Amino acid sequence: MGPASALLRDVFGFDDFRPGQGEIVDAVTAGENVLAIMPTGGGKSLCFQLPALVRPGVTVVVSPLIALMRDQVRGLREAGVAAGALTSGNTPEETDAVFDALHDGSLKLLYLAPERLASGGTQRMLAQAGVSLIAVDEAHCVSQWGHDFRPDYLRIGELRRTLGVPLAAFTATADAETQGEIVTRLFDGAQPQTFLRGFDRPNLHLAFQPKDSPRKQILAFAAARKGQSGIVYCGTRAKTESIAQALREDGHAALSYHGGMEPDARRHVEERFATEDELIVVATVAFGMGVDKPDIRWVAHADLPKSIEAYYQEIGRAGRDGAPAETLTLFGPDDIRLRRSQIDEGNAPPERRAADHGRLNALLGLAEAFECRRKTLLRYFGEEHGGNCGACDLCDSPPDTFDGTEAVRKALSAALRTGESFGSGHLIDILIGNETDKVRQRGHESLPTFGVGKDLSRSQWQAVFRQIMGRDLMRPDPERHGALWMTEGARPILRGEESVTLRRDTIDRAKASRPVAR
Ligand code: ADP
Ligand code: ZN
Repeated sequence: MGPASALLRDVFGFDDFRPGQGEIVDAVTAGENVLAIMPTGGGKSLCFQLPALVRPGVTVVVSPLIALMRDQVRGLREAGVAAGALTSGNTPEETDAVFDALHDGSLKLLYLAPERLASGGTQRMLAQAGVSLIAVDEAHCVSQWGHDFRPDYLRIGELRRTLGVPLAAFTATADAETQGEIVTRLFDGAQPQTFLRGFDRPNLHLAFQPKDSPRKQILAFAAARKGQSGIVYCGTRAKTESIAQALREDGHAALSYHGGMEPDARRHVEERFATEDELIVVATVAFGMGVDKPDIRWVAHADLPKSIEAYYQEIGRAGRDGAPAETLTLFGPDDIRLRRSQIDEGNAPPERRAADHGRLNALLGLAEAFECRRKTLLRYFGEEHGGNCGACDLCDSPPDTFDGTEAVRKALSAALRTGESFGSGHLIDILIGNETDKVRQRGHESLPTFGVGKDLSRSQWQAVFRQIMGRDLMRPDPERHGALWMTEGARPILRGEESVTLRRDTIDRAKASRPVAR
């Protein structure tokens, strides 16, 4: 693992880069002049904060938004990074502390309000402070024709010349005129390395399927793509071996790969994958870092990835050559349970855990989406996709939906009436009126909800519960054997103030398939 990924994890708490971030971080760290155009919410700040930690000395960050600067400084300090701000909102003590840290060389990031640049004192101070990088947030503020013009931004070019250090400019404004002005005014007309890649990878076909028989589903997907190189990602080491075996029995060239293998054996797989055209690698997420094979034609997930970022990275390994490539992601209630408990059992601080649940919810939302997946995915990364993409399973065949409010309310009230102390298996027994020993022992056959859900089968109820968890209306409690408890999002539905749309296909498919084992 390189220093960048170690910092990404240890300081920022992310396991994967967002689209585009990795390349920008590399260029900025290497000391290139950079212009990066990223949508709002895409994760710009990491692209200068992380390089600032790797580069020597201090990075000066110019930003027009005082509140945002203060937020970032607070966040960085909480993560143990020496950061400070010089803005009009500072107390004299804060300003003194920043100057002290600058003098003794301990400061890594100095946020500066643009008006500070007007003072000769600031410029002199910076000339002596060991600055190794200038980062400019909202770089379009340098454009005199834009709405956000800030005259003091015109001084940034001068600062760059005085200090003789690289500059990284960030903006969400993509029009060519603004870009031209940024290049003229911040870089004296010398074209910086420019990153304007939308997040969309239009050659990737996106598809999800509820998991009913993962091995069969993966085999069927691979059979339709025989002779193409692909990757199957699995959640466990054992599964990489059993699926690779099944693929070989089906006549494919397939190898497994995971972190528990000897380095030599791993290298062997990497080399064969790089040089052969028809090989399938069945791997844990340990496979990928060094993989830059351009013609991977498909990526399948036998288990749900851990976040929407991880999903995007993993499917993104397919089709780097720009030719069409396909992806399939399987997901089921066990995945959701496993991912949730991995987050809860990790020793991350509570805010980080909440954020991890959020990133998992985003992926579940994508899995259970009922409109174009590409639109849903890009929206999460801050990018608008006009119209439907025509290259995802939902565009191929739009799902049938129905008003599932009644079913969801029955499920929620079954949980509520039993003290939010049981998993979906027992709750479904109650809903379909199944008098098991457990039901009788607890006297649950006399609940008003007992048998109110006879209209759906057990596996249809499983599908309803999966959609409930996918929308984060209920969560399993790992400390109480996965007992389902209701989140705040469930209350308005129980009170009849909100309705829920469910996908009919996942529920019908559940009816058609064999009963799901508990
Ligand atoms: P921008 O400045 O581009 O609008 P930010 O830098 O504020 O966006 O980032 C937007 C959000 O994305 C933040 O909540 C941040 O924590 C999150 N984020 C950034 N990078 C990552 C990553 N690699 N993985 C997960 N979340 C990320
Ligand atoms: Zn689509």
